[in-house]
Amino acid sequence: MQKILISACLFGEKVRFDGKSKKINAGILEAWHAENRLIALCPEVAGGLTIPRAPAEIQGESVINILGEDVSQAFTQGAHKALELCQQHDICMAILKEGSPSCGVSQINDGTFSHTKVEGQGVTARLLEQHGVKVFNEHQLEVAQVYLQNLLQRER
Ligand code: SF4
Repeated sequence: MQKILISACLFGEKVRFDGKSKKINAGILEAWHAENRLIALCPEVAGGLTIPRAPAEIQGESVINILGEDVSQAFTQGAHKALELCQQHDICMAILKEGSPSCGVSQINDGTFSHTKVEGQGVTARLLEQHGVKVFNEHQLEVAQVYLQNLLQRER
């Protein structure tokens, strides 16, 4: 069974910094859920951060929260927990929340806490991709579905 990692907030879990979820309702996800493919994880919570928590943004090589605290270690730890989970379940694809300093696939905030997006990847998305896990954001479900079908065909 090819499993798929998904950001827990997209799966409906109230794990975001503000204590809310970002659940998306999509037929593709429902089908994957019915097939028991989805494994949800919030890397920031897995890294030891609380719900709620101060929002954080990537600044250079560090992750700094809005209080000025360096939370890089928790972000890195969460990313490694996500990678371990992928390795444990042979997961080679993930659906991650765009824009997040952990999960952002192609966009993150610019580090100024001004809601300005720039090109870049979250800490978890980057680590997963470096280890061969293909990452998609929540707007790329159709592309992800084709990717999954190709994986399944290769398995046959
Ligand atoms: S770290 Fe990822 S899973 Fe957790 S709340 Fe942020 S975007 Fe969602």
